[in-house]
Amino acid sequence: MTQVERQAWDVVVIGAGGAGLRAAIEAREAGMRCAVICKSLFGKAHTVMAEGGIAASMGNVNEGDNWQVHFRDTMRGGKFLNHWRMAELHAQEAPDRVWELETWGALFDRTPDGRISQRNFGGHEYPRLAHVGDRTGLELIRTLQQKIVSLQQEDHAETGDYEARLKVFQECTVTRIVKDAAGEKVAGVFGYERESGRFFAIEAPAVVLATGGIGKSFKVTSNSWEYTGDGHALALLAGAPLINMEFVQFHPTGMVWPPSVKGILVTESVRGDGGVLRNSEGKRFMFDYIPDVFKEKYAQSEDEGDRWYEDPDHNRRPPELLPRDEVARAINSEVKAGRGSPHGGVFLDVSTRMPAEVIKRRLPSMHHQFKELADVDITAEPMEVGPTCHYVMGGVDVDPDTAAASGVPGLFAAGEVAGGMHGSNRLGGNSLSDLLVFGRRAGLHAARYAQEAAASGTRPVPDDAQLDLAAAEALRPFSAEDGELPSAVSAGSAAEQPAGPAENPYTLHQELQQTMNDLVGIIRRAGEMEDALHRLAALRVRARRAGVEGHRQFNPGWHLAIDLRNMLLVSECVARAALERTESRGGHTRDDCPEMDREWRRVNLVCRLSDPSAGLAAPTDPGRGQIRLERRETPPIRPDLLNLFEKDELVKYLTDEELTQ
Ligand code: FAD
Repeated sequence: MTQVERQAWDVVVIGAGGAGLRAAIEAREAGMRCAVICKSLFGKAHTVMAEGGIAASMGNVNEGDNWQVHFRDTMRGGKFLNHWRMAELHAQEAPDRVWELETWGALFDRTPDGRISQRNFGGHEYPRLAHVGDRTGLELIRTLQQKIVSLQQEDHAETGDYEARLKVFQECTVTRIVKDAAGEKVAGVFGYERESGRFFAIEAPAVVLATGGIGKSFKVTSNSWEYTGDGHALALLAGAPLINMEFVQFHPTGMVWPPSVKGILVTESVRGDGGVLRNSEGKRFMFDYIPDVFKEKYAQSEDEGDRWYEDPDHNRRPPELLPRDEVARAINSEVKAGRGSPHGGVFLDVSTRMPAEVIKRRLPSMHHQFKELADVDITAEPMEVGPTCHYVMGGVDVDPDTAAASGVPGLFAAGEVAGGMHGSNRLGGNSLSDLLVFGRRAGLHAARYAQEAAASGTRPVPDDAQLDLAAAEALRPFSAEDGELPSAVSAGSAAEQPAGPAENPYTLHQELQQTMNDLVGIIRRAGEMEDALHRLAALRVRARRAGVEGHRQFNPGWHLAIDLRNMLLVSECVARAALERTESRGGHTRDDCPEMDREWRRVNLVCRLSDPSAGLAAPTDPGRGQIRLERRETPPIRPDLLNLFEKDELVKYLTDEELTQ
C-alpha cells in the first residue's frame, strides 16, 4: 500500500471560503471535531474577492423590504427555476446571518443613523446589500477566521491544544471522497499536500463540500486558479448527481484591457451606485434591451432612471440594474453590432456621475484596480468592460433543509458548489448570503449525522483499496509517457491505455478553456456544442497521458494534471446539459432557441455517472464516457409562495396546467 498519513475527525469540510468556514464553525459548535482542508492559504478563498455585498432584507435603508420581497426577486432573477425551498430559507435566514457576523466583529458601512448600510444591486427591488466599501468578502472572511481562532482559543483553554476540535489543513488538495468497502457511505477523503506532495487520508463519517466554482474551465473568467470544479467532480465521482449545470453566469462587467487582466471583475456596485453603460456612440443602450418580463419594473427614460437613485418610491430603476444575464447579453449584442469600445467591450462610466472623492470612498478597490492594472483613472474617464465567466448556478443536488447530497449518505454541499438555490441566474449579493445560510445548515446537519454515526457505532471505515487507487491515480502523471502507468492503475484496464507521447497539462488546459469559451460560452448554438463535446472527448483521451517531470515537492504542473480530470468532467456536464436545454433562460442563451419556454421551467437537467461504482474504481479516467443526463420534474412551488406574485407575472413563467392547479 502507498504511504498515506491518516487521521480521524468527525466532520471534514473541503474548502475554507465563506461556506466552508461557516459550516466548520457550526459543526464545531455542535460539539464535533472538525477538519477544514483548503487548496490555498487560510483566508485566501474566492469569498475574499467578493466586492459588492451580502444580500439580506434587513430593511435598513428602505423599510418596505422583507424576506418575501427578497424571495420574489431571487425567483425572478433565476427565472423561476430556483428550488423554491432554498430560495425561501435563504431569504428568511440571510438577515440573521448578517447580524450574527456583526456580533462576531464584522464592521459594515453604516447608514447616517448608525445601522448597517445597504446598497442597490441588479434585480433587487430595494437597497439590500450589506457591504464594506467594495471589499465585503474580505471582511466576511476576516470575521469568520476570527471566530475560528476564538473557538480554537476556547479549545486551548480546555484541552491545552488549539487544534483539538477545529483544525485547518491549508495548501492541501482533496482528490477523492473515499467510501466504506461496500461503496455506500462516505468514510473520509484522500488528498495531497501541495508543498511536500505527501499523501494523506482523513477518516470521517461526514464530508462537507464547499469548494466553490468552475470558472477556470473558461478562458475569460473572474475566477482565480483554485476554481477548477473540484467539488463538483468529487461529488459526481462519489455518486452524487449535479443539477442545472447548463447555467453558468457571465458577469456583464469584467475588464477587457490589457490582455493580461482580461476577465477580472468590475463589481456591480459601480452600476448600483450610479454608473452607466454606453456604447461607442455614447448611447445608454440598456434602454433598448429591457425584456418583456421586466418592462413594467424598469425606467423607460434616462430621466426616470436617474431620478430613481434619489426617489426610488416614485420612479423605476434604470435598466443598467437588470439581472446580470440580461446586461451581459446586451453588451455582447452591442459589441457584435460594431458599437463596442476600442478593446472589444463597452464603456462603464462613473466619472460623469459622481464626484471623485465619492468614487474613491465608495469604490476604492475599483479605483485602485484600474489605476494599477490599466492606467485608467475612473474618476476622470470611463472603464472598458465586457462579459466574463463568473459563477456557476449548477451544482450538487442537495436537500434544501439539510444540504445533504442526494444519494450519498454522509456527503453535504454548500455555497457555490451546491445547485438549485439560484435557478438559471444568480442575483448579485445572493452568493455571500447563500453561503452563510447553507454553510451553517450543512455544518449543522453534517455534525448531527456524525453524532448519530458515533452514537450508533456505525462509523464507516475507509476502504483501503480505494485509497490505493486514489494514490495511483494521483501518481499517474509522473509515468504518463507512452501510456505507461503504475501497475496499480493499469491492472485490469490495459486495453484502455492510450499510447503516445506525454501531453503537456498546460496545453490541454488552454485548449479546454478555448473550447468552453468559444463553443459553450455566453451565446450557444447546437452545432457548436456538439463540436465542443467531441473536442472534450478527445481532450479526455489526451488528458490520460497528461505527464509531468520532476518530483512531488511543489510541482504546479502535477497539480494541474490532477485538476484537469475535474475540469473535463464538469465541462462535459455543462456542454451536455446546455445542448439538451432547447430554450434560453437566465445564464443559458441559445442563439438557435432564443425564447424562454414555460415547459422547460418544469425541467431540471441532472448529470450523474451511469455507473457510480465506476467513479470509485476506474482511476485511469474516472467516469469516462459515462455521464448520463436525465430530465427531472421541478418540485411544485408551494401555493402561499406563489401568492406573493401577481397572476400576470406568473403567466410568463408557469404553464397553463400549473396555473390551473
Ligand atoms: P470559495 O470562497 O470559492 O472557496 C472555495 C474553497 O475551496 C477554497 O478554500 C479553495 O481552496 C477550496 N478548494 C477548492 N477545491 C479544493 C480541493 N480539491 N481540495 C481542497 N480545497 C479545495 N458574491 C456576492 O454575493 N457578492 C459579491 O459582492 C460578490 N463579488 C464577487 C467578486 C469576485 C471577483 C468574484 C470572483 C466573486 C464574487 N462573488 C460575489 C461570488 C462569491 O464570492 C462566490 O460565489 C463565493 O465566495 C463562493 O464561496 P464558497 O464558500 O462557495 O467558495
